[in-house]
Amino acid sequence: RVRLENIKRKFNNVTAIEDISFDIPDGEFWVLVGPSGCGKSTILRTIAGLETATSGRLYIGDELINDVPARQRDVAMVFQNYALYPHMTVAENIAFGLRMRKVDPKMIKERVVAVARSLSLEHLLERKPKQLSGGQQQRVALGRAIARQPQVFLLDEPLSNLDAQLRDDTRAELKELHQNLGVTTIYVTHDQVEAMTLADKIVVLERGRIQQIGEPQTIYAKPANRMVATFLGSPP
Ligand code: ATP
Ligand code: MG
Repeated sequence: RVRLENIKRKFNNVTAIEDISFDIPDGEFWVLVGPSGCGKSTILRTIAGLETATSGRLYIGDELINDVPARQRDVAMVFQNYALYPHMTVAENIAFGLRMRKVDPKMIKERVVAVARSLSLEHLLERKPKQLSGGQQQRVALGRAIARQPQVFLLDEPLSNLDAQLRDDTRAELKELHQNLGVTTIYVTHDQVEAMTLADKIVVLERGRIQQIGEPQTIYAKPANRMVATFLGSPP
């Protein structure tokens, strides 16, 4: 469960997010959408602990985590501009979070192979990131998050660098992974198809505020305002 209560983040006099509240039950897949600059990444970064909320309360499970440092939060984030460790192989990148937590090396190896297989990366395990395509790198970044088996996934446009075909395939893989693992997921995208097919609930944002929260079909059929309708391509 991930709960935000009246979360606000200001940068000097710019308010990036204003009064954000939602409560995600365990295991659900929520998608954040909205125009560039509406605050999607700021929400994820605040949950990950990479930004500090200016005000409001943030909970994972029943624990208030406002003051818990990023590395002690049980979340894994995939960034908008994925960052792999360039000097490490694919296998080492995927294993990184596990090694940090001193998981048994034999178990790490097994989990790396399993994760790589689920993302069609098993033949690339000994390569370095610069020997991979953009789409392959993006799947390694996903693999690194999945391997850690966190309580919460925060995925910031994780398919944005993929070509159309690979994007469809990876989206389907993600959906299946979520069905298998059941990890609570917050997913940022500006792709309507991704939002409609992946989401249990969609959160539509504009200028740092929530415009509407609801199931994809409901929001599509009954958009709260014109901005939401335009954004989801609802019929007039
Ligand atoms: P995009 O779709 O382009 O990735 P976004 O919805 O992820 O956009 P954010 O990155 O969350 O948007 O930014 C929200 C607002 O906060 C923007 O107006 C942005 O300029 C501002 N902002 C974000 N980070 C900072 C920062 N470190 N300093 C000042 N302003 C910031
Ligand atoms: Mg962003």
